[in-house]
Amino acid sequence: MKIARTLTELQAATRTLGETAFVPTMGALHSGHLSLLAAAKADGRPVVASIFVNPTQFGPNEDFNRYPRDEAGDLAQLEASGCDLVWLPDVTTMYPAQAATSISVAGPALRWEGAARPTHFGGVATVVAKLFGQVRPAAAYFGEKDWQQVQVISRMVADLLLPVQIVPVPIARDVDGLALSSRNRFLLPPERAGAPALFAALTKAATQIVAGQQVAAALHDARATLTTAGMVPDYVALVHAQSLEPLDALEHPARIIAAAKLGTVRLLDNVPVA
Ligand code: AMP
Repeated sequence: MKIARTLTELQAATRTLGETAFVPTMGALHSGHLSLLAAAKADGRPVVASIFVNPTQFGPNEDFNRYPRDEAGDLAQLEASGCDLVWLPDVTTMYPAQAATSISVAGPALRWEGAARPTHFGGVATVVAKLFGQVRPAAAYFGEKDWQQVQVISRMVADLLLPVQIVPVPIARDVDGLALSSRNRFLLPPERAGAPALFAALTKAATQIVAGQQVAAALHDARATLTTAGMVPDYVALVHAQSLEPLDALEHPARIIAAAKLGTVRLLDNVPVA
């Protein structure tokens, strides 16, 4: 596995690889990230992963400084997963001192995470566009764990005519249903024990809505379940799966998306409603 820390090293390495499959990450890798690498690998192209904790997608009062970092552990996992090249840019490479250009996002970025974290998706889109320009992959793999992010990136690629195929990868979960996340390590043991209530509540609401229950009632029950489990729900919504517009009644394609605070951790999850 090659490691590139400068653009010159990256360009030298990508030149020999031909068409690549790309997995952008912020590190602190877990099995969720590895499922993206496995999906990329299975498609047969050489795999490039990046690790960059992107400052512009964190708000002023968010956890940029405490975001977990473990480069040695990450590199060992990437090597074991068969990754061909790792791109480890520094902040000044990604954000040159005179930088005056960024990507502005609307549409699927406006609600939910976009409302709770107003600068978040602009930061994500900007860094992903830069990474695409550097790595120039044929395909890029994103986790459905961040459902809204996949829609924002897909919209950006369509709108800016970027020559890359976006491949969504299903959510990797712990055995009890909790969606894997680098931030789960900050859950205290009793919080971790209660955290699967989120997936359980969303699954139940999806089943009820498919069975014909009123959408508002099913979502209300799900929010109440989260509160009983000690969470502070931010949103639990039935949305159009691509536009992220809220739905009052079931139409397809639909998704239930949710965010809830548990202790100091903001948990995200989503399920299909089919
Ligand atoms: P992050 O390092 O949190 O920015 O995540 C990097 C990529 O891994 C993103 O595309 C995430 O959606 C994806 N990812 C994170 N957790 C999971 C998970 N539990 N299942 C599937 N993909 C995930």
